[in-house]
Amino acid sequence: MKISQRIQELEESATLAVSAKAAAMKKQGINVVGFGAGEPDFPTPVNIRNACKAALDAGHTKYASPASGIPAAKEAVCSKFKRENNLEYTPSQVMITVGGKEALYLASMTLLDPGDEAILPAPYWVSYPEQIKLCGAKPVIIEGKESNNFKVTPEQIAKAITPKTRVLIFNSPSNPGGFTYTPDEVRAIAKLVADKDIIVFSDEMYDRLIYGNQRFLSFAACSPENYARTLTFNAGSKTYSMTGWRVGYVAGPEPIIKAMAKLQSQTTSGTATFCHHALVEALSGDQAEVEKMRKEFERRAEYMHQRLNGIKGVTCVQPTGAFYAFPNVSGAFAALGVKGSLDFSAKVLEQAHVAVVPGIAFGLDDYVRLSFATSMEQIREGCDRLEKLLGKI
Ligand code: PLP
Repeated sequence: MKISQRIQELEESATLAVSAKAAAMKKQGINVVGFGAGEPDFPTPVNIRNACKAALDAGHTKYASPASGIPAAKEAVCSKFKRENNLEYTPSQVMITVGGKEALYLASMTLLDPGDEAILPAPYWVSYPEQIKLCGAKPVIIEGKESNNFKVTPEQIAKAITPKTRVLIFNSPSNPGGFTYTPDEVRAIAKLVADKDIIVFSDEMYDRLIYGNQRFLSFAACSPENYARTLTFNAGSKTYSMTGWRVGYVAGPEPIIKAMAKLQSQTTSGTATFCHHALVEALSGDQAEVEKMRKEFERRAEYMHQRLNGIKGVTCVQPTGAFYAFPNVSGAFAALGVKGSLDFSAKVLEQAHVAVVPGIAFGLDDYVRLSFATSMEQIREGCDRLEKLLGKI
């Protein structure tokens, strides 16, 4: 049996691998503190669950028509973008997808040919390089420095642009970095690419999850030129704790959305019809739960940041968005007798029963990712264990 070259070259998702290993240990009765999960630990808000139940009872159980999104869902997405992001889209510029992940994959498949280049700032979300490679294109990785909160600069991007550059990936707030570009920083990058024949993938999955005095600015809102060359991605997953529903959305230039919808119609036929209805409620209904969750994440971000910086060999930049801390743990490698983030994570899981995700999966090997989408008790316990294993400052 031959597995295609394309799939042989594909990396397993490291985040899912860590969760699976931690789950296997839990099954054996080991008390593992899991910092691996990239999903909120809250239930999906009740109004959204009720909307889904009502949709099921009303018989919305057939293929969605069109597959790229029922009209009410596309309208709800347009209203969300207008209300929250100052972006004017029409329903023909929008599609509903199987989570944010499908939207991003469809976009890569639609815009990248073999030999093309996509600029990818590291640390990056794990699926980006793999999705780009699946198109036969090349991820051109530029590294955000810890001293700049892992954010890349316009100069770094300018240097990476070649005649083969087709796409720039921009993700703020960031998974895994937990950082957020300020509006001025977004504008500076937007200005650089405004007159270039490059489509920006603005991954805004965590736009509502920002902390302290951060403000969020959508990339496409920077100028009409940027609007014309940006795809804006979002989903129910993180904002509304809907990871398992698999419902995302994307908006951008109509010809691109049309082409993506063509690919979707020949592959997944989109997400479950009742999830389109649930998304309408999520985006248009009561938003009180979102703020409650955001506040709780903010509290955890502060606590985790402070605890991690109290551990020997660990330094951690303050998370300003999403629900991840991304500490530099290289100062603890020697004490643990390890050389990189993979070994570090394995050792920490083995010896302290704490599951973290190795930074190498996100392009930076001196770091690990800890998700604080878990209870305060678990965060406290996990930090205690790490402190015990590595020592206190
Ligand atoms: N983009 C980023 C930055 C993410 O963190 C995730 C989920 O982890 C996704 C996209 C995909 O989201 P979804 O679960 O909606 O497919």
